[in-house]
Amino acid sequence: MLRINSIRKGIVIDHIKPGYGMKIYEYLKLQDANFTVALIMNAISRKYGRKDMIKIENVIDLDLAMLGFIDPKITVNIIEDEVIKEKINLSLPDRIEGVIECKNPRCITSEEREIVHKFVLIDKEKAIYKCEYCDHIYQGR
Ligand SMILES: [Zn+2]
Repeated sequence: MLRINSIRKGIVIDHIKPGYGMKIYEYLKLQDANFTVALIMNAISRKYGRKDMIKIENVIDLDLAMLGFIDPKITVNIIEDEVIKEKINLSLPDRIEGVIECKNPRCITSEEREIVHKFVLIDKEKAIYKCEYCDHIYQGR
């Protein structure tokens, strides 16, 4: 087991579904970071068997809605003075903007490129979203 307290101040993104760690790493543009970042893949988790983890030795802004959309089972730990100050359990966001695109060719977002794609969660169990403009359905998983 890797010890959390190897970080003095920063963020640990934990319980990431195996294989999603790299996706989140890229989404957060951590490859360009000038602080210490560790991407741990396929760590053993008591909760889910295997998991990915990202340790960030810095306090950065996280888009929790976006992270929750990628993987709602993620836990975000805020570390201060080597201890967990805050533990945030993510969930599927009720709304997402500018993350996924509407595939309906007749949707206004297809015609007008500058419009931000907006989706609303309509089924939490199945992770089904609908386009706010044309009601076109998007199923995440
Ligand atoms: Zn649409």
